[in-house]
Amino acid sequence: MKERLERVQERIRQAAEACNRPASDVRLVAVSKTMPVEIVKQAIDIGLTDFGENYIQEARDKIAALRAQPVTWHYIGHLQSNKAKYAVRMFDLIHSVDSLKLAKELDKYAKKIDKVQEILIQVNVAKEESKSGVYGEDTLQLVKDIARLENVAVKGLMTMPPYFNAPDKVRPFFKALRQLRDQIRSEDIPNVEMEALSMGMTGDFEAAIAEGATMVRVGTAIFGERH
Ligand SMILES: *Cc1c(COP(=O)(O)O)cnc(C)c1O
Repeated sequence: MKERLERVQERIRQAAEACNRPASDVRLVAVSKTMPVEIVKQAIDIGLTDFGENYIQEARDKIAALRAQPVTWHYIGHLQSNKAKYAVRMFDLIHSVDSLKLAKELDKYAKKIDKVQEILIQVNVAKEESKSGVYGEDTLQLVKDIARLENVAVKGLMTMPPYFNAPDKVRPFFKALRQLRDQIRSEDIPNVEMEALSMGMTGDFEAAIAEGATMVRVGTAIFGERH
C-alpha cells in the first residue's frame, strides 16, 4: 500500500506541476469503502488523513473503531434524508448534498449537537438519469436556499462525471463544474464558501487536477481492487 500511495502522490504532484498549482492545493481523500478497519488503520499509519465512505452502516463501525485516530471523514455516497442524523454525527464533510430537503435534515440534526455541518453540493453535470446530483442550472438557487440554514455550511461542489476512468472524455465535465463554481463564487452569497471542487477518481484525477480539483477521491489506486 505504501508503494501504491507513493505512486498516487507522485501522479498528483506531476499533475499539479503541469498546471502550475502547488500539490498541497489538492487534498487526497482515500476512498476506503469496503476496506476493513485493519486496512484503514494501515493507511493511517503510512500517513493518510482523509477517508471517504459511501455507506452509513459500514462506516459507522469503522469510524467507531478508529475514533481515537486523527482522521477527517468524508461522506461521498448517496445520502437519504432518513440517514441524515447518522451522517451528521459521523462525518466532517458530506460531499453529496443535492436537495434542500436533505440539507434541512442535516441542519436539524447538526443544530441538536451544536455543530455546523460542512457540505458540498453534488452536481449532475451531464444530467444522467442514473446519477444523483442537482442539475447545473438549478445549483445556484439550491446554494442560495441552503445558505439560509444556520447549521450547514456550503464549501463547494462535487461531481461524478460519466465515462469515469476515461480522462479525455471526462475533462469537459470537470471544466463545467469549475466554471459553475466560479460563477456561484462571484455571487458572494453570505454563509457560502465556494472554494472546494471534489472531482477525480483513480482513472481520471490528473484531468480533474488540470481543471482545478481541490479534492480527489481515490480508492483503487491506493487500496487495490475492491471485491
Ligand atoms: C468508489 C468511489 C470513488 C473511488 O473510485 P476509484 O475508482 O476506486 O478511485 C470516488 N468517488 C466516489 C463517489 C465513489 O463512490
